[in-house]
Amino acid sequence: MTYDAVIIGAGLGGLTAAAILARAGRKVFVIERNNSVGGAASSYKVGDLFVEGSLHETSNPHDPRDAKHDILKRAGVLDAVTWVPTGTLFEVRGGPLTTPFVLPDDLEAARVALRDRFPEARDGVAALFAEFKVMAASSEAAGAMTLAQRLTQAFGDNEAAKCAIAANLWYTHDDASALWWPVFGRTQGALLAHGARFIQGGSQRLSSALARAVRAGGGQVVIRRIATRIALSDDGATITHSAKDGSDPQTVETKRIIGNAGLDALAELLPSAPAAKLREHASGRQLSISLFAMTLGLSKPPREFGVSSYSTQLLPPWMTRLDQYAEGTSLMAHEPGERMPPLSVVDYAAIDSAVPAPPHVLSVIGPDRLSNWSADDMDTYRDKRGRWQDAIVRYLDQIYPGIAGAIVASSFNTALSVRQYLNAPNGAVYGYAPLPPSAGVVPPTPRTGIPGFYLASNYGGTGGYTGAIAAGGACADIILSE
Ligand SMILES: Cc1cc2nc3c(=O)[nH]c(=O)nc-3n(C[C@H](O)[C@H](O)[C@H](O)COP(=O)(O)OP(=O)(O)OC[C@H]3O[C@@H](n4cnc5c(N)ncnc54)[C@H](O)[C@@H]3O)c2cc1C
Repeated sequence: MTYDAVIIGAGLGGLTAAAILARAGRKVFVIERNNSVGGAASSYKVGDLFVEGSLHETSNPHDPRDAKHDILKRAGVLDAVTWVPTGTLFEVRGGPLTTPFVLPDDLEAARVALRDRFPEARDGVAALFAEFKVMAASSEAAGAMTLAQRLTQAFGDNEAAKCAIAANLWYTHDDASALWWPVFGRTQGALLAHGARFIQGGSQRLSSALARAVRAGGGQVVIRRIATRIALSDDGATITHSAKDGSDPQTVETKRIIGNAGLDALAELLPSAPAAKLREHASGRQLSISLFAMTLGLSKPPREFGVSSYSTQLLPPWMTRLDQYAEGTSLMAHEPGERMPPLSVVDYAAIDSAVPAPPHVLSVIGPDRLSNWSADDMDTYRDKRGRWQDAIVRYLDQIYPGIAGAIVASSFNTALSVRQYLNAPNGAVYGYAPLPPSAGVVPPTPRTGIPGFYLASNYGGTGGYTGAIAAGGACADIILSE
């Protein structure tokens, strides 16, 4: 049998494309190397500890203006999970802020909160929020301005105001001086205009719902199978996939290939000429940042130690300017010292998350890069990671006294874990870095230049849940229109 499309990788982008195509009557076959579907959008247990692999927040897909709305509806999963309001976008503490500031996940409430906290910056706040409103509803991106330039235009050297609006910049990139303003503006605008949401019970529920939609549409999803080779022909391709240990090779014939795995991982499966063509997609672009994610299981709810919001951006004392955020990304290359990275802390018990407890889950995320870690000797890697965990816990204990003594379980994923678990080049979590387009480089699309070969992942659009789902939808639309 020849499939209409074989999808390599069951991350959000691949599953979304597969579900839409299957529901439109196309024969699809999804190959995933891990033990479960979802890629980064996975949740699992380590002993008693519930680990959410990625999701802190995504913009509310129930808002008809949200980029995910129509796509998830067509994939048949918009109402298959519960999108829980996170209450606020974030609380930010430390850095140049003398006292904590809470940013609501509502455009008007956020504008008023910022204006009241920074009355000297009211004109800048008004101009910025007018722009967020437009950007939230738009898929257009123009200009060459960076986040740092746009915020300096709005706030001058008021670094506290900049951090109050953009302390969650890691949702797209770590370096405000390089981050393309329209990408940040659209992501933040959607969170503010549509509201921020968590998926009740964890991101695995969305991924599993998408896989169910694929199967209900007659498609196949196989797990623990690695795509190992793509042989292209004039009218399609033959894809070889095997068990994780390389045994049991099988082939599947298809008219089209949809790549959800990272671009380099896909290129390795192709003969040299098409591999070079595929790599042209990456030409002129940089890979995105990676992230570390520490999950702490506490004997008592985090609020009992003073964690006061669902999501808190903790800016370290050395960070006096927003554009220093990226300095935190390379800290883990060294032994822990005086400087801690900027951290994002999420208390899943603060909302109706249905995250199982006890232990009560506190997720701690920060910017990371693969070069911070070496896989040459895994014992050395684990020892250094342990020392960083101890240092971060000591730091958290200064801010939330008593929290260190309440830890009963933990898990710590680094950029190396992202590389290994997702087969993600360089541990990149968002595909390409969202930088201003340089000469001749246009924003990425699902088209690869290889006939019949498309991308449904962050590499086919922008990063995050919205980016992956939007790329999956765009990829399915291209195929359906052919
Ligand atoms: C710690 C962390 C926190 C995050 N927080 C947020 C957040 O709060 N909000 C948000 O919007 N985004 C967040 N993200 C980003 C978001 O999770 C990703 O952008 C998105 O899930 C990527 O989806 P994807 O479909 O592009 O790819 P992936 O999830 O990377 O999926 C690719 C899949 O391909 C599979 N694969 C690779 N090679 C092969 C092969 N040869 N054969 C078969 N299968 C293969 C992999 O196993 C994987 O399942 C976070 C990410 C991380 C890591």
